[in-house]
Amino acid sequence: LQRTLALIKPDVYPAKKEEIVARIKQAGFTIVKESEVSFDKEKAAEFYKEHEGKGFYEELTTWMSSAPIYALVLEKPAAVKEWRNLAGPTNSNKAREIAPHSIRALFGTDGSLNAVHGSDSPASAEREIGVVFGGEVAG
Ligand code: ATP
Repeated sequence: LQRTLALIKPDVYPAKKEEIVARIKQAGFTIVKESEVSFDKEKAAEFYKEHEGKGFYEELTTWMSSAPIYALVLEKPAAVKEWRNLAGPTNSNKAREIAPHSIRALFGTDGSLNAVHGSDSPASAEREIGVVFGGEVAG
């Protein structure tokens, strides 16, 4: 079994949390841990450090530290890939074209307000789980 980190972002949290969690469960993920989390600017910067220097970095880290989010550690075979498939393409407008049943298609707005985050690799998942939950569920 593999673990990944899902975040329900400020554009849809808390309004769509229950609907999104229902889809996660329906897709067969085990929720290992879940909690509301508030990023401060430093935590958001650490979480998204791979994007430092990109044009959207300042906007992204400001947004992600502007309001509470909901973090979930998900477990399933191939959890990283499976959660990215369920989330859909990064841009919600593209998601509505090519993956209309995905979470970003259904709940997101555009290329920046896109409802959810998913780790992009098992290594990223472990790092991100550590950043969000302080390492208490690492491994
Ligand atoms: P990952 O799950 O690896 O973070 P992702 O599909 O969420 O991948 P990234 O490319 O990693 O997307 O970007 C992280 C987040 O930054 C996106 O989810 C989105 O909210 C925002 N973002 C990405 N690209 C842009 C962009 N061009 N303009 C504005 N915001 C962006």
